Amino acid sequence: MTRKKLIAGNWKMNKSGTEAVELVSELVTQLGPQTEVDVLVCPPFTALETVSRKLEGTSLKLGAQTMHAERSGAYTGEISAPMLRDLYVTYVILGHSERRALFGETDEVVNGKVLAALKNELRPILCVGETLEEREAGETLKVVQTQLEGGLAGVDAAQAASLTIAYEPVWAIGTGKVATAAQAQEVHAFIRELLGARFEPSLARKIRILYGGSMKPDNAPELLAQKDIDGGLIGGASLEARSFLELVNAAA
Ligand code: PGA
Repeated sequence: MTRKKLIAGNWKMNKSGTEAVELVSELVTQLGPQTEVDVLVCPPFTALETVSRKLEGTSLKLGAQTMHAERSGAYTGEISAPMLRDLYVTYVILGHSERRALFGETDEVVNGKVLAALKNELRPILCVGETLEEREAGETLKVVQTQLEGGLAGVDAAQAASLTIAYEPVWAIGTGKVATAAQAQEVHAFIRELLGARFEPSLARKIRILYGGSMKPDNAPELLAQKDIDGGLIGGASLEARSFLELVNAAA
C-alpha cells in the first residue's frame, strides 16, 4: 500500500497576515503544480483568509491549528468548523500537545472536536505523544494508546479515510531533540496496529501517520524512509520557505 506523503506546516502563533502571504507566495511559486507530495499549511486564524485566497487554484492545502466543537454560540474567542469551511480550510490539527498542556485539552475535549470536524467534512490531524517523563517510565505506548482511543471514540469506519494521525513525542517538539527513526517507527507501527483493531487493517493501511518533533531537512530523509511514517507535521522548519521546501523534496 503506497500512501501519498503529507508535509504539513504548523505555523503556531507566528506570521502576520503580510508575512503569511509572503511565505505562502514563495511556496506556491517554488512548488509549481507538483502533485507527488501533499503539502499543507496551517497558519494562525488571522491569516487564514488571505492565505486561502493565495492558495486558490494551487495544489497546496489549507489547515487550521485547532477549532471549537460547537457550531456557534456563546464561546468568546473561539472558531467553529463551519467558519473554517467557509474559508476553504480542509484540515484541522487537533489535540496538539501545546493545546493539551497549555490550554487543558483532555482526550474528551479533543474527541468532541474530532467528531465535529468529521461531521463538517474537515479532516482532523489527531496529535498524540508522550512526555519525556512518560517515555522514561516506559509508558510511551500506553499513553499513545489512551490518547488515540480517547480521541477516536465514536468515530466510525466510514470516517476513517478522513483521518490523519500525528505522532509527536512532546520531548522532541521545538527542542531540537528528534526521535530516532527506530523510536518513531516503533510507535507508528503500534498506532497502525491500533487503528487496524479499531477499524480494520485494510482501512488502517490507508491512514497517514505523520511524525512531528524537530523534523528538519537533515533528519527527514531517514524518518520518511520508515515504513509507517507518511509525512511530517513541522513547526520551526515550516516558518521559512527554504527549509519547508527541502522537507517537501525529502518526501518526494
Ligand atoms: P517543531 O514542532 O517542528 O518545531 O518541533 C512540531 C509541532 O509542534 O507540530
